Amino acid sequence: MHLAASGLHMMVEVRTLGWMKKNMDPFGKLIYAPETASGEAISKVESHTPKITAPDTVTAGKPFEVRITVGPHPNTVEHSIRRIEIYLYEESRPFNPVFLTAVNLVPVYCEPDIKLNLKLNKGGTIYTVEYCNLHGLWEGRKAIRVT
Ligand code: FE
Repeated sequence: MHLAASGLHMMVEVRTLGWMKKNMDPFGKLIYAPETASGEAISKVESHTPKITAPDTVTAGKPFEVRITVGPHPNTVEHSIRRIEIYLYEESRPFNPVFLTAVNLVPVYCEPDIKLNLKLNKGGTIYTVEYCNLHGLWEGRKAIRVT
């Protein structure tokens, strides 16, 4: 009886480990990008990848505008872009990224179209991650040179 119970325990443990292997990917692997989307996600690339509009080159310390849009994408209570986060990978910084901002978007009222003014002293890459309540996290990126 004791052996049987212990065997069952081992079976449950092995199953749990198998589940964890399949479901414990590093968080970065859960973020879709055009280059890595596969299967059904390929049809969602166009409507979910955030587009970053910003100059390719900026002057150190001088503010410039960055616009981030997602879509065309539905904007209903059932299905919408709920959040946009923005990060900076800054050249020669020991640890990256720098968190810049996050905007929560209430469905129906808020469009996934945001603008912010940035001021950089070093070049780098702007990363943005948007969250769609049905289709998960999607990233966009843009390199910016500083002169
Ligand atoms: Fe969606």
